Amino acid sequence: MTNSESTQTWWADIPDSSETIAYFSMEFGIEESLPIYSGGLGVLAGDHLKAAAELGIPLVGVGLLYRGGYFHQGVDEAGRQTESYERVEPEALGLHREDVTVDVDLAGETISANVWRKDVGTGDGHIVPLYLLEVDWLTDALYSGDREHRIRQELLLGVGGVRALEALGVGATVFHMNEGHSAFLAIERIRSFVQHGMSTEAAMARVKASTVFTTHTPVPAGNEIFGTDLVARYVEPLAAEAGIDEAEFLALGDFGEDGAFGLTPMSLRLSAYANGVSALHGEVAREMWSSLDGVDTEIGHVTNGVHLGTWLDPDLTDLLAETGVSPSAPPENAGWEKAASIDRDALWRVHSASKLRLAELTHLDPERLTIGFARRFATYKRAALVYTDLERLLALPVQLVVAGKAHPQDNPGKDVMQEIIELSRQHSDRIVFLEDYDIGLAQTIIPGCDIWLNNPTRPLEASGTSGMKAAVNGVLNLSVLDGWWPEGYDPDVGWAIDGVSDEADLEQLYRLLEEQVVPAWQDRERWLEMMTASITKLSPRFSMHRAVIEYVERYYLPAARASQ
Ligand SMILES: *Cc1c(COP(=O)(O)O)cnc(C)c1O
Repeated sequence: MTNSESTQTWWADIPDSSETIAYFSMEFGIEESLPIYSGGLGVLAGDHLKAAAELGIPLVGVGLLYRGGYFHQGVDEAGRQTESYERVEPEALGLHREDVTVDVDLAGETISANVWRKDVGTGDGHIVPLYLLEVDWLTDALYSGDREHRIRQELLLGVGGVRALEALGVGATVFHMNEGHSAFLAIERIRSFVQHGMSTEAAMARVKASTVFTTHTPVPAGNEIFGTDLVARYVEPLAAEAGIDEAEFLALGDFGEDGAFGLTPMSLRLSAYANGVSALHGEVAREMWSSLDGVDTEIGHVTNGVHLGTWLDPDLTDLLAETGVSPSAPPENAGWEKAASIDRDALWRVHSASKLRLAELTHLDPERLTIGFARRFATYKRAALVYTDLERLLALPVQLVVAGKAHPQDNPGKDVMQEIIELSRQHSDRIVFLEDYDIGLAQTIIPGCDIWLNNPTRPLEASGTSGMKAAVNGVLNLSVLDGWWPEGYDPDVGWAIDGVSDEADLEQLYRLLEEQVVPAWQDRERWLEMMTASITKLSPRFSMHRAVIEYVERYYLPAARASQ
């Protein structure tokens, strides 16, 4: 099937199929010059839009335009993270201001938002528009301010987003909430149906039948909660207009904690389709949420993927094309099995060039076995674990490249970072910390490493997409069996740590490095076989095209039919 054939097949029985699905997210990682993302959640949202565009899926993105973006990271003399904000100039980044404004009521004060449009797509394919709402003082920066600021931003996203689509004449019928930040969109949609004469009960059923919710984290801080007083002040007037009384409204966000209102529980209660982002995370999410009163939607899983056009090294893309693979085609038509016969010498040349580019940036040795670790500095990711026995680590013929930002308010995360920065200063020939991690830096770091290390506390890593970016580039994963890795791992493509306890994981990590990784590295032929297996086996399975097709077939199409 070509793209257009499959698109026609999918949407044939859905009239008015233009721009049907609205994908809402607090962050979108499209490119490093548009800094409206903080990490994996945003990069995933950006990759989702890019893959949807290439597949010709009628989808639009809805988010916020943060004029200060997310912070740029620096490091001071003490090795402590510093934060600075640049002013995002939308026109210079190819955004267009739409000819509409959108009003939202914030606890009695009406604010008026601008709407910007960014077209996402690559070259000749279909375009997916991303609409970004902006109110200068409110969308100052991503994840800025206190709880009140956050609920205001999230009302703008959810309520303002729905109104923006209406004002723009985008006839969205399916709504996908990427995390719970945008959950107030459901209340606004119910309100709108009720204002048009529907009963509250019918409107709620209608909204639920056309809403998809993706939960992204088992870490409590990743599941947005607000005090009920704050929610009462900001959202109850809207709920009242939808015919939902106070008790009923507070029950939507109830998860058994007094005085707290959870957006994940509310999202689950108002979505007919819900999923985690890996098989393991699906299980964990079911354990966390399924027994709550009023949660009757089965929580399934759609394992994340990565957009290969963004994450495959361009020289490797060319080499794969010469080998008969079309990395930009949907996985079943891409011919990935042909990658097994990739020319090993050419693969090594491409990989060595990536290593050289990274070495030039870091002043490390371009020939040495390089371990990469780059992601947000959230403490559950245990960034400092591998340095626990420094002597044992440095006895190995390895060097390490580290990067990542800690949330400005995450002092424990900053402490871990500071510890690693100190080590990098003492052992600058072996350990390098690169500042201001973003999409652009990830594109340089990942293909330039040999090993991609991920050692979170299991099962707190819902997916872990950076490991997929590594895998498709032939960078071998050495990871805790958490997130996507239990699905991707086999001994031909990398190494697995069981994820039992800090002590056990550390011992297993050192042993794997000493007894397996380093010997494999010293046998170039063996290493190239593993690189080839990683590319051949994992690229089709962890491509964002595969993930988006799953969303379409399992959720978007049934939801679109239900809302006819
Ligand atoms: C892919 C990516 C992430 C996600 O990394 P994980 O290891 O999955 O947490 C975070 N930040 C950037 C810039 C990325 O490109």
